[in-house]
Amino acid sequence: MSTDLTASGARDVFEGSDAAGSGGGDSGGMPEYVLTRKRMKHLRMTVKAPHGTVHVSAPVRARQRDIDAFVMSRRDWILKQQKVAVEMPVPLTAGPETERLRREMRESVPPLMEYWADRMGLEMPTLTLRRMTSRWGTCNSVKRHVTINLELGRRDPELLEYVIVHELAHLYEPNHSKRFYAVMDKYLPEWQAKRRELNRR
Ligand SMILES: [Zn+2]
Repeated sequence: MSTDLTASGARDVFEGSDAAGSGGGDSGGMPEYVLTRKRMKHLRMTVKAPHGTVHVSAPVRARQRDIDAFVMSRRDWILKQQKVAVEMPVPLTAGPETERLRREMRESVPPLMEYWADRMGLEMPTLTLRRMTSRWGTCNSVKRHVTINLELGRRDPELLEYVIVHELAHLYEPNHSKRFYAVMDKYLPEWQAKRRELNRR
């Protein structure tokens, strides 16, 4: 029987081997899982954020002990995925958390941006704080308008600062050109480490 393992929202997609295949090598207990039987040919396992719940879908006629063996053989993988899943924040949706972040960031972002604009010899641009799904910030250098993702309010303040400097740097240089990175190097020499940290997940 072939298997298919996925981790929800994660980059770590695991192609399983035989249900009875050996793996893990850990002597710990059986991970808890939620079993759903379906008309399907293969076993499939998913570890879901935000709680790291293990969901197993199995063919209607699969034997319980084969399913258990499959789960057990992938125990290490499950534990690893659970660690990732619980660390992965649930994307912001409209609601109380978003409103709280908006209130907090209305207080914290303008002074920080003013500080950096001043340091970089720029006029303070106009600012919007908004929930965005695919970008941490944007800058319209023609309109001199910066948008910052509210999601940053959940992260280390240093990462917010990095995004602010990045967007301000676009007022010098709209493209991610050599010149742009020279501006980043000048004002935030450790920017690459922050970018890595920000895009870690
Ligand atoms: Zn950019």
